Amino acid sequence: TLAASIHDLHKQYVLGGETVHALRGVSFDVPEGDYVSIMGPSGSGKSTLLNLLGCLDTPTSGNFFLGDLDVAKIDDDQRAEVRSTLIGFVFQSFYLLPALTVVENIEVPLLYSGRLTKESRERAISLAEQVGLGSRLEHRPTQLSGGQQQRVAIARSLVNDPRFLLADEPTGNLDSSTTAEILALLDALNREGRTILMVTHEPEVADHTKRKIVLRDGQVQIDERLRG
Ligand code: ADP
Ligand code: ADP
Repeated sequence: TLAASIHDLHKQYVLGGETVHALRGVSFDVPEGDYVSIMGPSGSGKSTLLNLLGCLDTPTSGNFFLGDLDVAKIDDDQRAEVRSTLIGFVFQSFYLLPALTVVENIEVPLLYSGRLTKESRERAISLAEQVGLGSRLEHRPTQLSGGQQQRVAIARSLVNDPRFLLADEPTGNLDSSTTAEILALLDALNREGRTILMVTHEPEVADHTKRKIVLRDGQVQIDERLRG
């Protein structure tokens, strides 16, 4: 199993002469298979926390254990390796490459991590099928609905078979019925055993997960288990 554990995480940004204390001692454990929503007002530190959990940035102080490895202490190359092997990302605005087809978009992380092989195409097709886009393999993003584009982004996030899926407002640009479809897909990925952490502003989306963490002024205000 691969649990994540963060302890007394601080993050300060220095901007011009000013210091912004974005995270002020955040601690929690995430057992493998958890499904966590992260809420809180704008500026409370949600994006900062997600960026740290995703190994996109390093904390000013504190620990972040993935299993036995403290990723707060490793160098940039190791962090890039952790990011590409253990972590998948999904964003509010999809970030698909418009010139590429569905299948090619799904392959993009393999290209970046130097893992593109002759089996990649099969893997990308199988992921497209898993997210319900088996009949859209050669479409380009502009030919797809928002929900379909987010499905492509979810398939892309899975291409390196990550144990952790981090999502920043994944349903923020979707209407309520499309939101329900995307949540059903995330639920299924969680049931397969993937650990999911998702930033959301929508209470109905948060209520869907197993655990709700609310940040306020860079600290954990609420950490509530909703279901097993
Ligand atoms: P949220 O995602 O909850 O809106 P953020 O993590 O984006 O919160 O921001 C927390 C605080 O840190 C805010 O005051 C924000 O302006 C500041 N902040 C975030 N990212 C940066 C950055 N790259 N440089 C400077 N300040 C930042
Ligand atoms: P949200 O809260 O919807 O995620 P934000 O506006 O807080 O959006 O942040 C968007 C991006 O801009 C984040 O990656 C964050 O780190 C960065 N950011 C936020 N505040 C600042 C800031 N004051 N200076 C530089 N970058 C910032």
